[in-house]
Amino acid sequence: MMRPSHRQLPHPRTGDLFTSPVRPGSGWPGDPATRRTAVAATSADVVTMAAAARNLSQLDAEISVCRACPRLVQWREDVAVEKRRSYADQPYWGRPAPGFGSPRPRIFVVGLAPAAHGANRTGRVFTGDRSGDFLFGSLYRTGLANQQTVTDSADGLVLNDIRVAAAVRCAPPGNAPTPAERSTCAPWLDAEWRLTAGHVRVIVALGGFAWQVALAMIRRAGGAVGAPAPKFGHGVTATLQTPAGDVALLGCYHPSQQNTFTGRLTPAMMDDIFATALAISRAE
Ligand code: SF4
Repeated sequence: MMRPSHRQLPHPRTGDLFTSPVRPGSGWPGDPATRRTAVAATSADVVTMAAAARNLSQLDAEISVCRACPRLVQWREDVAVEKRRSYADQPYWGRPAPGFGSPRPRIFVVGLAPAAHGANRTGRVFTGDRSGDFLFGSLYRTGLANQQTVTDSADGLVLNDIRVAAAVRCAPPGNAPTPAERSTCAPWLDAEWRLTAGHVRVIVALGGFAWQVALAMIRRAGGAVGAPAPKFGHGVTATLQTPAGDVALLGCYHPSQQNTFTGRLTPAMMDDIFATALAISRAE
């Protein structure tokens, strides 16, 4: 197992020095944790701590230091130490990426998992890779983000009425978490949903896997998704019943390079999805 690097490198914007992975509470922009934040070491810990989280600040902090999946912890930290050559002069976050955005979102976006050299480097979900550039570009054009250029955790990004979360919070090898890892991480998403659901009118699922994750999340929260369960498609909308009222589930192709480079998902297509989500979220 590769050891955390004790070599300190400057944050690309603030210039402050950090080890890789970043130590909790060491001053990284947007770090929700402190040195005293409780650490989940097992899947049972995740269940207990997620259920007990009283607010998003506590939840984000505990997610950001979670160590419940040994394979993912080792991989995220190895990547943080090894780095990609083009980022060799930067510290890597090397920790789980909590959700980001409004604490009272009307739109809740579910993605898959952080990218090894994206959120695992920057510490903020979908930040620092081409998928994130594509997503946040669309959110900016549809009025859901304050800026188009999104590069690091100190770039000033603010999301309006929208929150972005991942089904699995650690970067997985090959972008493929195991079923056990997905299951271990699910309580964090359930807790995020519990703490925001009273505001949410639309869930946007980025890809078929996120669609299934969203349906399972709603079921576990005591909601109903219909039978047969609605099938994923780009632009497909389904109405889900939740204890807090009906919520629309809206499908969108994931902004992976495979989809965006081939034109399967274009900026206009994604803009249409978020314009629809915005309209639904504002309808009475
Ligand atoms: Fe914890 Fe989720 Fe990361 Fe597993 S994937 S270590 S449960 S944050």
